[in-house]
Amino acid sequence: MPDGVRPPDGLGEGWAGMAEPDDCVFCKIAAGQIPAQVVTRGERVLAFRDLNPQAPTHVLVITREHHRDVLALAATDPQALAELVQVGAAIAADETGGPFRLVFNTGAAAGQSVFHVHGHVLGGRDLGWPPG
Ligand code: AMP
Repeated sequence: MPDGVRPPDGLGEGWAGMAEPDDCVFCKIAAGQIPAQVVTRGERVLAFRDLNPQAPTHVLVITREHHRDVLALAATDPQALAELVQVGAAIAADETGGPFRLVFNTGAAAGQSVFHVHGHVLGGRDLGWPPG
């Protein structure tokens, strides 16, 4: 993270590295302990379909290692963040022909419900703005 830049309070916690919590559902998917509809496997990331899709394409791209949110990931493993974005774009190119939205809900009030970094890749229909 650049000098002087700090995450907002309560976000990016564990940005110096964080142990994997026992109850993290996305860690369990990454470890193959619970099933998921996998789309792509990358060196540092895994992409699978969202259980509750909000668009014809709704894929989650996660890191294999646990990071609480995108701020923690940016601070500790920016290469993994770059790979996550590239994998998301490749999935969108395959499935939507290009246009897509990549969303990182960050913090409970912003809609984050799973505290393991994930980018939502959404596409395949017109997407309204602003989001709800
Ligand atoms: P967020 O609310 O941004 O943290 O997004 C979490 C997303 O994970 C939601 O869209 C859920 O539908 C999705 N989700 C939760 N559990 C699973 C699972 N086991 N497999 C696939 N998607 C899941």
